[in-house]
Amino acid sequence: MTQSEAIERGRLLFAQECRFLRPIVSLEDVPDTELPEAAFIGRSNVGKSSLINALTGRNALARVSNTPGRTREINLFDLGRRLILADLPGYGFARVAKAQSAAWRRLISGYLQGRPQLARVCLLIDSRHGVKDSDETMMDLLDGAAVSFQVILTKSDKIDAAELANVLNAVAAATEKHTAGHPEVFVTSSETGAGLAEVRAALAGVALPSDSGYKPAAAGRDGG
Ligand code: GDP
Repeated sequence: MTQSEAIERGRLLFAQECRFLRPIVSLEDVPDTELPEAAFIGRSNVGKSSLINALTGRNALARVSNTPGRTREINLFDLGRRLILADLPGYGFARVAKAQSAAWRRLISGYLQGRPQLARVCLLIDSRHGVKDSDETMMDLLDGAAVSFQVILTKSDKIDAAELANVLNAVAAATEKHTAGHPEVFVTSSETGAGLAEVRAALAGVALPSDSGYKPAAAGRDGG
């Protein structure tokens, strides 16, 4: 498949209906879904909600907040019965980290370690800040859970090209040290739309194909 075919496949996937499933506040709530899953995680305020909204082209799917650390549950979205998007609660916000760390760690570790359908974790890093200690801790956790992760730089519109190139090199070097780290780092901006098509294409690579026949009563129709 050429890159432009992959981009088109990603565009079509993200043009599908995106349905919000119920929020998960504890491990017992995690639903038994069969679809491949892609999770988004990062420090509070990294731009995770904005990225999910920008990828899906919906303004209010994931809540964008100016109060860092507000989201404490895992939110799942069913994208066209082909891929589940999981919006994980942010980390690294000191006030919340103290009060929430035990419950947060239990939920996140339990989810990451007990989810065989989890095909990809998108680890978001703010372009202005690079890899922080809390990101390293998360990468270690993902190594331990043997869940492959892909770094996505966010808010690339906030710094100039030279700075961005430096951050990208440093982040790629840090990612390379982790066994679960995917070598390709994406550079995105939810503001300008930069890099979004590439992220959609990558996620389409782990989604069910459009002609998988997973849809009920789809017999005889190949949809592709
Ligand atoms: P979350 O806590 O990780 O979900 O972060 P949000 O999506 O709520 O974003 C945090 C703040 O960063 C908000 O004020 C957003 O408007 C802003 N933001 C998010 N993404 C971008 C981006 O790509 N460019 C710029 N300039 N601002 C962004």
